[in-house]
Amino acid sequence: MAEFGVKTITVGTAMNTSREGVAYADKHQDTWAAVGYHPDHVTSDFEDDDEIGALKEPYDIKGLEKIAQSSKRVIAIGEIGLDYHYFTQEGTMKPGLTVEQAKKDQQKIFLEQAALAAKLDKTLIVHVRDAADDMLLLLSELRALGTELRIVIHGFTETWQTAKAYLDLGCYLGIGGIVTFKPRKTTAPEDTLESIVKKMPLERLLLETDAPWLAPVPVRGTRNEPAYVRHVAEHVARVRGMDYEEICKVTTKNSQEAFACGF
Ligand SMILES: [Zn+2]
Repeated sequence: MAEFGVKTITVGTAMNTSREGVAYADKHQDTWAAVGYHPDHVTSDFEDDDEIGALKEPYDIKGLEKIAQSSKRVIAIGEIGLDYHYFTQEGTMKPGLTVEQAKKDQQKIFLEQAALAAKLDKTLIVHVRDAADDMLLLLSELRALGTELRIVIHGFTETWQTAKAYLDLGCYLGIGGIVTFKPRKTTAPEDTLESIVKKMPLERLLLETDAPWLAPVPVRGTRNEPAYVRHVAEHVARVRGMDYEEICKVTTKNSQEAFACGF
């Protein structure tokens, strides 16, 4: 990161990883932190290798608030949101949970954390997978209440129509390594990530890695890391017909606004 002039936000997914992220950001100059409870942990018993211990500590909004207030390096609440992706696969939900109840549980916990973000004036980092319609509904309701939250839809990969709906709600779109992948043959030309990146308003565009996942071409398939954001930047610059330096400058400025942070 230092070598390539990259700064980053470590993103929490559970109580333990939120706390660890803040501790890391406190120790490392170019790192900030987001704290939050990921929807997968609300409704499944899965934890990945970087989250060991997550299942031992249940979701606790008061505890999250404490972590969020424990350091000035915390600039966002996230990643939080809705993830219905695994609901159709057997054995991936908590025992006894119905799909209907699982959706309700995720929505409730998302809204509680969104309220915390509003209370503490932190940006919302939103994770959405196979749940765009419900997320748009929840965000519309938040906006209808007059909530002026700064909202980042991270790892955006949906259609242009969905992009447009998020943009109309004032959201930023976080674009990661997937933009460097060849689109699926079934994707309509107007819905490829490249085409969305090309026509969306430049001032709402953010670049991200989602490390350790989804490493961009030419390092696709390896363990992703923040420094690889430069490959995303190079690709997006080409798509938008801009210089690399120019896209870096603009998206850095966008992120400063999105996170109300000087970086
Ligand atoms: Zn995510």
